[in-house]
Amino acid sequence: MFEKLQAGLYEAIRTLAGQGKLTESNMREGLRLVQQALLEADVSLPVVKAFIEKVSQEALGERVMRSLRPTQQLLTIVYEQLVALMGPVDHDLHLKPSGSTIMLCGLQGSGKTTTAAKLGRYLQQRGYKPMLVAADLQRPAAIEQLQILGEKIGAPVYVEKGATDPLVVCRNALRQMPALGANVAILDTAGRLHVDQALMNQLAAIDRLIQPDQVYLVVDAMTGQDAVNSARAFHEALTLNGVILTKLDGDARGGAALSVKYVTGVPIKFIGTGEGTDALEEFHPERIASRILGQGDLMTLIEQARQKIDQEEALRQQERLQKGEFTLEDFRRLLEQTTRLGPLNQVIQLVPGMSQLLQDMGDEVDTDRAFRRLCGIIDSMTPEERRKPEIIDLSRRRRIAAGAGVKPQEVAELVRLFEPISQIMREMASQGLRGRMQMMYQ
Ligand code: GDP
Repeated sequence: MFEKLQAGLYEAIRTLAGQGKLTESNMREGLRLVQQALLEADVSLPVVKAFIEKVSQEALGERVMRSLRPTQQLLTIVYEQLVALMGPVDHDLHLKPSGSTIMLCGLQGSGKTTTAAKLGRYLQQRGYKPMLVAADLQRPAAIEQLQILGEKIGAPVYVEKGATDPLVVCRNALRQMPALGANVAILDTAGRLHVDQALMNQLAAIDRLIQPDQVYLVVDAMTGQDAVNSARAFHEALTLNGVILTKLDGDARGGAALSVKYVTGVPIKFIGTGEGTDALEEFHPERIASRILGQGDLMTLIEQARQKIDQEEALRQQERLQKGEFTLEDFRRLLEQTTRLGPLNQVIQLVPGMSQLLQDMGDEVDTDRAFRRLCGIIDSMTPEERRKPEIIDLSRRRRIAAGAGVKPQEVAELVRLFEPISQIMREMASQGLRGRMQMMYQ
């Protein structure tokens, strides 16, 4: 499930990760690919629009564009917005120990009868004693199918042979519940091939008379947008407590999973992931979002792209260093690469003079913050200032400080300490590998 969406998002992130530096235009391109992936996964159009709008707002904001790890930030935003789109979900079934009723409805073939048994099993595992009620008098084989399933899970099945009114069957079943040793009745109601008024009237009548504790709609994920549209129609007629999305194991697109909550306001409570009676999972938006983003794979991809950029960058830097150049621009790049290596306080030792600089910036504890401040100061300089920091006079210092949100003294401090760092870097470059190793471990 979700293969299509995964492939599309993968492509979007890969494009961005391969860019090295994130700009507004390549971020927009990335978002366009995300949008395309959602549409191809059969996510409803209004949902796609709202989702992209939210993600864009966040992704094009300061936080991401200035961040040292923009692609990871984008991934985080997509993850958070996916979770928000599908949730929240109340997993409580709100059942009374004295006896409760769950009504299942849905179109024919949606998986209602199978789901009745799956839900029965789910309840058994939580200490309830469910019974299945054969109230689908529409489909000839439904009663027998329910009986077989009931036997499989070891739950009583209430059947009235020759009955014609499902309302009567449901009412009688509830009266029989204590005698059958059950405390939750699961009503398997009739479906039709399409949403129609006769079906809605019948279900509304059962709902009114029986007053079930929970009403769930079973929809087939394979039908994509039709699943979402029928959920809307049922919710208008019945006030659903939740949706059970079946056959997600067979749907490579999974668009319905992303659309149902937004379009109908009703959360998905369970998903069906197979034909067996144990193939029912609680629907957890966080788990689904991680599954969609396939965190592991995407992260590896981002790492690979980054390593490639780092190698190219390292070569370029090497050449410049050998020519005796090491400007604040190079230093900024070095800082960025350093943060990618791992936890900051561990890698700090790798950069000559760095721990001294951080100490002098008065932030040896919160190294992350200090790094960001250093980068912020360098970002607020003009290219000329980065190449020739000696031109930074009082007024330039004030301008840079205001741009970076720091004190002018901090700008002065960075410039002062940069000189020896730059010297060390140039010396290291001129000494070749052996000399560099010796210097590192002196
Ligand atoms: P009903 O007409 O709504 O009662 O639908 P059924 O319960 O008879 O299910 C229709 C078909 O869908 C059956 O062949 C089921 O085995 C199959 N089915 C139901 N749920 C799932 C599911 O989650 N995954 C898969 N792969 N098949 C399912």
